[in-house]
Amino acid sequence: MFTSIPVFPGVTHITDCMGVSFTLLEGSDSALLIDAGYGIEDVRAYVETLTDRPVELILTHGHHDHVLGARWFRKSRMAREDLEEFRLRTALRQREAVRNQALERGLTVPEDYLTAPIPEPEPLAYTDELDGMECTGYDLGDLEVWLIHVPGHTPGSCVFFVPEYQLLLTGDDWNPCTWMWFPSAVPAPQWRDRMIRLLELLERAQGERVETVLCSHQAGPRKGSELWDFLAYMTDDRLRAAPPIAMNIELYGEIPTHQAACPEKGWALVFDYDKFLKAAT
Ligand SMILES: [Zn+2]
Repeated sequence: MFTSIPVFPGVTHITDCMGVSFTLLEGSDSALLIDAGYGIEDVRAYVETLTDRPVELILTHGHHDHVLGARWFRKSRMAREDLEEFRLRTALRQREAVRNQALERGLTVPEDYLTAPIPEPEPLAYTDELDGMECTGYDLGDLEVWLIHVPGHTPGSCVFFVPEYQLLLTGDDWNPCTWMWFPSAVPAPQWRDRMIRLLELLERAQGERVETVLCSHQAGPRKGSELWDFLAYMTDDRLRAAPPIAMNIELYGEIPTHQAACPEKGWALVFDYDKFLKAAT
């Protein structure tokens, strides 16, 4: 069962039966679906109950909880840097793991979940640059959307900005619990500084701060100020003092994962400590 929250006119945040969220952006001419979830249920059929505009699927990055739902679409787009991750995360081993999790939750999994073809995404083409960040704009008809390539959680991670609402879709480049520990993730300080630069340049371009954030592991909107505060909290000193935490690293082998947390706010940043030490000044 999908659930969805209308956040602004033309902006619907959808959560799938496995608990991951993604967003439909709809203008008067066309719509963008930003990510497609685990694909246990027919995402396209659900989205068609929300809009009668033509829908293009864009993937924020190559992880399975965002891309497996692409099986329900004829095509999608994604940054080329994540194609290898996409292939790994749509392979049999990962699908089996997701199917088992779904069955444990008592969900019905389509019979062809392990074998359904998932078209490889077409690589995104960027048309512009925002202070050194690759980007491209979409006019959906009365709704403008900026796609910005922000390597962080993965090298191909992209965020989306809707100027009309000062709304930022962060994908997995930020969640209240942010994971920066995968082998392909950039070092945590580099990611943090890049996110701060992104927020600053959006503020410069718009004359006001990002007001609302939608992310992949929250069913509802968060305040833009929370993202600023999170990034300011995760100083090099706090990262240096962060204790180790055990993660499920079955797919990747040994990674020295540490977690910087702020329990009062419900924030956590899990990152690769070796990468941090190399990157920290
Ligand atoms: Zn991810």
